[in-house]
Amino acid sequence: MTEKETTWDYLVIGGGSGGIASARRAAKHGAKVALVEAARLGGTCVNVGCVPKKVMVNAATLRESLIDAGGYGMRLGPVGFDWSELKRGRDSYVARLNGIYARNLRSSGITQISGFARFVGPRTIEVGGERLTGEHILIATGGRPHLPDVPGADLGINSDGFFELERMPSRVAVIGAGYIGVEIAGVLNALGSDVTMMVRGDALLRGFDEAMQSSLLEQMRADGVTIRFGHATTGITAASSGERSISVKDKPSCGPFDCVLWATGRRPLVDGLDLGQAGIEQHKHGSIVTDEWQQTSAEKIYAVGDVTGRVELTPVAIAAGRRLADRVFDGQSSAKLDYENVPTVVFSHPLIGTVGMTEAGARAKFGDAVRVYNSRFTNMYYALTERRPKTVMKLVVTGDDERVVGIHVAGLGADEMIQGFAVALRMGATKADLDRTVAIHPTAAEELVTLS
Ligand code: FAD
Ligand code: NDP
Repeated sequence: MTEKETTWDYLVIGGGSGGIASARRAAKHGAKVALVEAARLGGTCVNVGCVPKKVMVNAATLRESLIDAGGYGMRLGPVGFDWSELKRGRDSYVARLNGIYARNLRSSGITQISGFARFVGPRTIEVGGERLTGEHILIATGGRPHLPDVPGADLGINSDGFFELERMPSRVAVIGAGYIGVEIAGVLNALGSDVTMMVRGDALLRGFDEAMQSSLLEQMRADGVTIRFGHATTGITAASSGERSISVKDKPSCGPFDCVLWATGRRPLVDGLDLGQAGIEQHKHGSIVTDEWQQTSAEKIYAVGDVTGRVELTPVAIAAGRRLADRVFDGQSSAKLDYENVPTVVFSHPLIGTVGMTEAGARAKFGDAVRVYNSRFTNMYYALTERRPKTVMKLVVTGDDERVVGIHVAGLGADEMIQGFAVALRMGATKADLDRTVAIHPTAAEELVTLS
């Protein structure tokens, strides 16, 4: 180990969504910044998350559009599909993004250090034998897939493994029914796999509004996905043929499958960081304890993004990282992220866009003051197609002024629709404000301003 010591205004550990955003904002404010990344720039989102996932969602949507095209009089003939070609295109797009991120760091005047960082003292880290000191340090090391500790767990793949698949698996079991489970199940099903979801509870997307859960369940089943509720996986076995079977608590085993995919949540990536060397406190599952200012228990050491175990979304990591840099390096003393009312989209089939409180959450908080407005209809796009998925919308309002506290949409366009409505909710819009807004016709979104 060399004893070379280099000092920075801001030392950022992790070149993913939060780290890069915070580093670039700090550099813009004139800070001398170094960013340490152990793997590929861009982190989870760019390499094994949002970006390659959205490419797969786009492919699945295209596949569905080809089916729908028949209803519009188009005769396309047999349509081939080459998974490896899709993967090649996707991989090279991600590689392009890696390059763009590196160039962006350079053009921002940030020094990129490749290697794995670990703390060796209160404000000092070590990377590849070199010691680096930061006046301020940001931990933005993200998370990793979490697999339950059951026999044969490693016979299944996780979401990282999904993006490595060279061939489309024919029979797939997806364990878990959160964001990743329903998104990947939907993609594989649309592309032609035979998909079974193993759900230990009794609902998809636990924590989402009941109307979204039931709409998703109805459509996934209509699309041919087998969904087994009350199926808690206790292990995976492999036959000599390579086929997998899943053992289930108090139930017969399920299978055979060609591929089993774990989508059972994520854990903060803190392995090997030696947080104790800097006196940084952690929660039970390892996430870093932070206050509302992203401050850890150690002075001038901060954490943002998935490693904090808060809302695990890219724009959240980015926003928290930028506000932190604004506060620390630009004197914006009140800059901090408000974690309330974060809009989110699940890229399932149907798409689900949501912001604010669920009906159940609002009733628990505001009781009888809560009122809901519902709509369920067939989007005009499906007027001529064989597939007839329903669009479902729910507006949750409270009080005499009917302030909007929750907006939930499942259906075509939900992903693009919810962002603008999230602005309205954040600004304190009431039902009357929505009603006063002239509709745009013919769209699905117009339903949200004409609900009665
Ligand atoms: P990351 O982006 O994970 O970056 C952390 C970086 O730190 C990594 O590059 C890692 O290599 C590096 N690192 C870790 N330890 C060290 C160390 N000791 N030294 C040096 N470097 C280190 N969010 C959305 O908003 N929309 C989506 O559609 C979406 N889809 C997703 C799909 C999947 C399959 C997954 C898994 C996630 C998805 N997410 C999505 C979540 C999103 O990817 C994360 O919330 C986001 O990437 C978190 O950013 P981060 O900066 O906290 O961490
Ligand atoms: P989630 O926490 O969303 O879902 C985990 C799922 O796994 C739940 O259904 C959970 O069941 C189930 N589960 C957990 N442990 C077990 C077990 N031992 N056996 C069986 N089932 C189990 O995690 P994901 O991995 O899907 O996603 C992680 C995070 O990444 C998300 O929360 C989200 O923040 C982010 N993400 C965002 C996306 C987006 O913005 N579109 C897309 C993908 C990820 P139960 O409900 O019973 O606990």
